[in-house]
Order: sequence, then C-alpha cells, then structure tokens
Amino acid sequence: MNQKPVNLIDAAAVILLDNTGKVLWARRNPHLAFLGGWHAFPGGKLETSDAHVKVVNCADAELERFIACAVREAFEEVGVLLVRNGDKLTRGQRASLHDDLISGRMTFAEILAHWNLHVDARDFVYTGFWTTPQFSPVRFKTRFFLVACPPKQQPYAAISELENVEFIRPPEAIEKWKRSEVLISPPVLLSLKTLADNLIANESKTVAENLLENSQTADGQIRYIELNSRVICFPLKTETLPPATHTNCFIVGRKKFVVIDAASKDEPEQNALHSLVDSLVEKNFVCLAIITTHLHQDHFGGEAVLQTHLREKFNLEVPVAAHKLTAESLAGAVSIQKFIEDADVFNLEDADGGKFDLKTLHTPGHARGLLAFYDEEFGFLLTGDNVVGSGSVVIAPPEGNMKIYLESLERMKNLPNLRFLCGSHGAAVSDAKGKIEDYVAHRLEREKQVLEAFQYGAKTAREIAEKVYVGLNPELLKLAEKSAEAHLEKLQDEKLTADERR
Ligand SMILES: [Zn+2]
Repeated sequence: MNQKPVNLIDAAAVILLDNTGKVLWARRNPHLAFLGGWHAFPGGKLETSDAHVKVVNCADAELERFIACAVREAFEEVGVLLVRNGDKLTRGQRASLHDDLISGRMTFAEILAHWNLHVDARDFVYTGFWTTPQFSPVRFKTRFFLVACPPKQQPYAAISELENVEFIRPPEAIEKWKRSEVLISPPVLLSLKTLADNLIANESKTVAENLLENSQTADGQIRYIELNSRVICFPLKTETLPPATHTNCFIVGRKKFVVIDAASKDEPEQNALHSLVDSLVEKNFVCLAIITTHLHQDHFGGEAVLQTHLREKFNLEVPVAAHKLTAESLAGAVSIQKFIEDADVFNLEDADGGKFDLKTLHTPGHARGLLAFYDEEFGFLLTGDNVVGSGSVVIAPPEGNMKIYLESLERMKNLPNLRFLCGSHGAAVSDAKGKIEDYVAHRLEREKQVLEAFQYGAKTAREIAEKVYVGLNPELLKLAEKSAEAHLEKLQDEKLTADERR
C-alpha cells in the first residue's frame, strides 16, 4: 500500500546552557504520542503569531521567526524568559505572564509588547536544523539555537508535557544513554555528543561551529537511531500495514553484532543498511548472524542481499538465522542456514569491547516462529511484531493464535529487569511493562466485545468484525475479521476446556 509522504512541520528548539556548561533537558511525558518518555530539549512548532514577536538585530526574516518560536517555546515549556531585561520581572510576574500565555489570554508578542520587552537575536546562535526520520507519522524540521540561560531564572516543568527538567553535564547525559537509563531523541543525542566532545577536546572551533557543521554535513537527515550503546534502530521502507511505512531493522552489538530483520526489498534502502554494516566490518567488527524474526513479508527481503554483499565485498560468510518454524514457512523464498530457539544466547560486544548477552525468546501468537530478543542487563526488549510503537498487531489464524499470543505477552511482561522495548514498527517505548499491560487490557476488552456481539446474534467472524470494529477503513476490515476469528477461536477453545473439566 502506498503511503503519502508526511509533511514536515516547522519547529524550533533551544540548547540552553547554564554558566557551568551544563545543558537543559527534560523527559517528555510518557503518555505523549510523539516520543513519549524520551529526553529532549525545550522546543516546539512554529506558530503564525511568532511573526509578530519583536526581534532586534536580526538580518534574516526567516531566522527571526524561528528565534521568536524558540523563545516562546522555552517560556511555555520551562518558564525561562529569554528576552533582554527579562530579569526586571519577578518570579511571580513571570508566572502570571506564563498563565496569560498558556490560557490564551494574550499572545507571546502581546505580552512582550505590553511589558516593553524584546528579543535580541545576538543572544542566539543558530546551530543548524534536524528533521525527524521518515518512518515517523509526525515529522518536524527543527531549527536549533544555542543560548545562555539568564542567571536569575530557574527552569521548571511549566507544562504537563514535560517532567524531570534539569541541567546536566553533557558527558553525564551521554553516560546515562550509553547505560540505557534514558532514551534520547536523535537530534538531541547528536547535539549532546558534540557538546561532550567539545568539552573534552578543547578544539579550536567553538561548540556552535561544530554543531552547525554536523547538521550541514548530514543535511539535517537522521538515518538511524541509537537507542543506547548497544542497539541501533534502522527503520527501512517496507510494504507494511498502515499507519506504519517502515520496518525497524536492528543492529545489536558493535565489535560483535547481529542484524535483525534486514527487511527492505528496495535497493536504495538495502544500500543504506549496507553502508552502516560496512562501516562496522571495516573496523574489523564481526557480524555473527543476519536474523529474520518471523515469516511476514515486511520482515524479510534484504537478508540474502546483505549476506551476498558481505561475501563479495569482505569474503565473509554470515549465516541467515531464524526459528525452525519460520524457516519451514519460508522454504523456497528465504534460505536459512541457522536455526535459533528459545533461550539461545548471542554473546555480543559493544564498541568498547564490553561483553553482553542477547537472549532469544520464542514468543508465538502473532506468528508461530516469532522471535523476540532481550538484553536483560539493560532491560531492553526487542519485541518484533508482538508489541509495536505505532499501529496495531494483527492476530490472524491459523498462523496467529490469540490465546498463545496473550501467553507470550504475559511472558514478556514478567521478564526480570524489563524497562524499555522497541517493536518492529514505530519508536522505542520507555515504559515496557505498562505498554504490554495496555496491550493485554486492549485484547481482553476486544474479547469482551466479541463475546457480546456473539451473544447478540453475530455468528460469523465477518459479522462480529462489522459490529466490533465500527468505522474501520474497509481495507483493514479483512484483518479485523481475522482478529475476530482469533478471539472466537480462543473463546471456543476455553469454553471447550471448561466443558471438559465438568
Ligand atoms: Zn508480522
């Protein structure tokens, strides 16, 4: 199914520094649809009214609007007023202005005009823009500005979308990310790395120059997301189910690594993945396996090409691996040389040679041979299609089985030390357990609806789907019918079990 390209939304953000070189970041509320639970800088989308904010000493009209946007967002989100003479206002006055802004009583431009305040562009250093990667259903083109926090103002979580607003030393932020204590939005991670490097390297270029250069070199594009020091998520364009447009390929480990779901059949996408894999192999890092999580067509297609590429370019022999049931289903389509089972462990290494285990979990239900992978030390679970960051999971009999699926969810939910998860589609999730609990609750709620529809006379899966999934896109009704069938199957199965027990 062809997807419409997502329009880029103009936005601005601030890299706010205190006088000790710490930078302000905050955790986005875990319930937000876009990057909930991820750490980010204050910022947001450009508004029409930003054009009316008085900005002096700026020769570039476009930049002026983005500076205004960044200043307004910083005030809205963390209560810091980045204007000249802003310190003449007391904390109480600033709070009351904040209230005027949030309640919509006054626009930001009106507030500044009323208090005779203005923004001076010389206080802001433009450090380039970054765009949200293509897989995201919402995409921003965000301009970043480096700015000093006025010494008398203390940032705080001024809106419910943010929590844990704090200044942090950039190297400390990077350490937290490396150890998988936080998820950091990709442009923020890139900026933090530059800030941290700059502190250490004592370079001739200023940090702002380095930030701008990085953005320009990459043309603001982010091709993959480093979830921590061990896991790279590389979304690849695939023919998958809407609203998803991509399948997440994962590279886990560095000095010793595996590639999971080299899923794209598109040559440019395959080439993009190859160049990342090449960059690892060229450092003598070892690829142990190319893994296919399960039989669905949006999860394979690039593995044989990658295997051939590594053979021809580096004379390496890397096996394609999957569960035996997947191998059986894909016989003739994908050649699989290595079988992986539940509890199999890959001994991997990060870029510094730190060893860790990636444990295989056989979690059927969505597909009979579906494999999930767990890094227990970091509490990071790769769920495959069991739980996804965007869209919903289809349980389609006979390959899918609702009862077994719920058992797999239960098993994943109870993994020791579980904290984060990332599925095959959409962004990583910071509250893995909560997310899986939501999935279970959703399925049980559906089950109740299916049972009710059945009791009120809908007998076939089609009739039930039409009653339960009201207003569904007709394209998806076929899948809903399959889901209804899966629920019916589970209910009948359980009734049978109950009858037998009597
Ligand atoms: Zn699937």
